[in-house]
Amino acid sequence: MSKIQAIRGMNDLLPEETAVWQFVEATVASLFGSYGYQNIRFPILEQTELFKRSIGEVTDIVEKEMYTFNDRNGDSLTLRPEGTAVCVRACEQNGLLHNQTQKLWYLGPMFRHEKPQKGRLRQFHQFGVEAFGFEGPDIDAEILVMTARLWQVLGLSDAVTLQLNSIGSAADRAKYKQALVTYLSAQQESLDEDSQRRLHTNPLRILDSKDAKTQALLAGAPSLGDYLDDDSKAHFAGLCQLLDGMGINYTINPRLVRGLDYYNKTVFEWVTTHLGAQGTVCAGGRYDGLTAQLGGRQVPAVGFGMGVERLVLLLQELNLVPAGLERSADVYLAAVGDVQLKALQLAEQVRAELPGVRIVTHCGGGSFKSQLKKADKSGASIALILGENEALSGQIAVKPLRTDAEQETIAQSELCGKLAALLKA
Ligand code: ATP
Ligand code: MG
Repeated sequence: MSKIQAIRGMNDLLPEETAVWQFVEATVASLFGSYGYQNIRFPILEQTELFKRSIGEVTDIVEKEMYTFNDRNGDSLTLRPEGTAVCVRACEQNGLLHNQTQKLWYLGPMFRHEKPQKGRLRQFHQFGVEAFGFEGPDIDAEILVMTARLWQVLGLSDAVTLQLNSIGSAADRAKYKQALVTYLSAQQESLDEDSQRRLHTNPLRILDSKDAKTQALLAGAPSLGDYLDDDSKAHFAGLCQLLDGMGINYTINPRLVRGLDYYNKTVFEWVTTHLGAQGTVCAGGRYDGLTAQLGGRQVPAVGFGMGVERLVLLLQELNLVPAGLERSADVYLAAVGDVQLKALQLAEQVRAELPGVRIVTHCGGGSFKSQLKKADKSGASIALILGENEALSGQIAVKPLRTDAEQETIAQSELCGKLAALLKA
């Protein structure tokens, strides 16, 4: 019978890799916590309408990337392709936006039916941050400062750069769209096929076309920055001033528009040149209209999503994964002969008295030699050897595995003290 395989683009993460993931997850969670952002969790499955109404009908995600199906009641459901819309839905539904501000973060799988390749999966993972109820540019600056600190903590500061733009209000963009369409329509035949289609559906997306001829045409196009109203201009100037003051470097990219409809004013991407075409590690912006678009009161909001796969790839690519993460044990307890009960008891005693020490109890019997081989492979720095003689005499042998120090036989009552001293050294 043929074996059943995983779905393309939906990867298993094996133990050697989960160690890096846990490291990244712990680092990010603690960093967000240090800014007072609180963790929120919401479902993976939502009503399809939520994403159509927020991300926009004529975006790549909604047009061709969503996993949508009818459930047994005939309701149209969608595996979440991103977190912002779900976060807004959850906050609204639970009253979190009623007369209060929120600083939130989440982590979890997202689903998009894209062509799987390096840094692009169908089930991928995102950290997201969303802040609600803050109007001014200080919050935009804070979340950028927070991401900059994350790069610093992970050693990535030199590997990523910040691209920044303001896309103004919906009214600004409507005016700009008209000007852009007028300009491009006159030279429609020179546009790539995708851009020709977008001319009528989502003209702003033409700005980030990868096609060289289209890009050349855009060089002479009207600039979105010239269409911003005073409020958007002041907001953007305020943000730039704060970033300058905080020493955060950025490039203003007037073509940066982002692929989701709900953004306004600030948009940004942290990009790297180390991951080929999948160079955007973190992306976000302001979305002051989204809560109202989803039926709530208007609440100013800003946030970002960060791809965990791309972050992990980047750390691996640049050899920035700290050494020893995948080590599963500090201590390996070899149990030779009929000593299983004593071995289990001693290991429990170590766990109770020395929390944080990772002790692996050998299970399944076998010769002394084969057990020591396993001890070595586990990465443990100390092997404990419990044979039938030791069990009878209340002793245990302690064998350092990574130094030249001699093996010693000690009383079992001294074990925890001994381990504490050896592991500290
Ligand atoms: P891209 O331009 O690479 O398709 P996007 O604009 O669609 O990205 P967002 O929706 O802004 O991406 O998501 C934020 C981040 O999530 C991205 O910057 C990236 O790190 C990550 N991401 C998005 N789609 C995928 C995917 N299919 N596989 C892995 N990571 C992804
Ligand atoms: Mg995409």
